[in-house]
Amino acid sequence: MNAQLELGYDQLFSSFAKIYWNLVIHHDLNQINVIGKKSEVQNILLDVQTKYSIPNTVVFDKLSGELQLEIILKVKKRCKLNVMGAIYGDTKGTIYDFDNKKEYLKLNGSFYSFMQQFQRVLTYLTNYHLAMFLEKYNDQGDTTNLLLKVENVSRRSSLAQFYQLLESYFNRNCFYCGKAIKKKGGVHVDHFIPWSFVQADQLWNLVLSCRGCNLSKSDRLTDNIYLNALIDRNDKLLTNSSLQMRKDMQVYTSNKLKQLYQFTIDNGYTDIWRPQKREN
Ligand SMILES: [Zn+2]
Repeated sequence: MNAQLELGYDQLFSSFAKIYWNLVIHHDLNQINVIGKKSEVQNILLDVQTKYSIPNTVVFDKLSGELQLEIILKVKKRCKLNVMGAIYGDTKGTIYDFDNKKEYLKLNGSFYSFMQQFQRVLTYLTNYHLAMFLEKYNDQGDTTNLLLKVENVSRRSSLAQFYQLLESYFNRNCFYCGKAIKKKGGVHVDHFIPWSFVQADQLWNLVLSCRGCNLSKSDRLTDNIYLNALIDRNDKLLTNSSLQMRKDMQVYTSNKLKQLYQFTIDNGYTDIWRPQKREN
């Protein structure tokens, strides 16, 4: 999302397609409130699955880039026709405005700050209701651990691409304790603002960490000094013109990160983590 709170359809529907694919194909869950029927998007995904004989075990991130794109474009085409307008109508235009020609939506500013302020509880509520919905309309599918499935549905299967990129800039030093990590397998990619809060993998929020720090930090926020260190780190990344062109870096500003850090605390992430000891 940019500073004008506009979100392009490509980005919107790539998240949408991913979540839908993982629920409908990977977990084999029906996604419509009529038992025995399938939603239109569900049929689009099932057609693609049949066309390329893709097994259910494959999550969206493991599909080839071309195939992901094919799915995203088909889902976008369908949703432009009915979903964008339907939700707009249901919410009486209070949450967003949209432009199907220019393919973007624009969030209402006060709604956006409300979402940021109560993001954690809103995520829990959404997940709870989605799980309730799926349980109600899935007699056949596997509904065990449904809340866990819903919670993890947008998680990326591998952060390897970020590992390679960050390692090429910063060697293998732990962002938190400063330790040089000898073994490649000992390096973790850590979400500075916890994944459970951002639920996204964006370069400006990812750092290399040793196994010890990553596991001990877990789902917690760190001390303010690391926030400033991350801002400096991101400034360094942005001196590289090819990184400036990345979609995630284009929407990054240090102010946004500072705000997000504060919102994370406001949302209850108050158990601040610090590494045991810091080298250099
Ligand atoms: Zn460390």
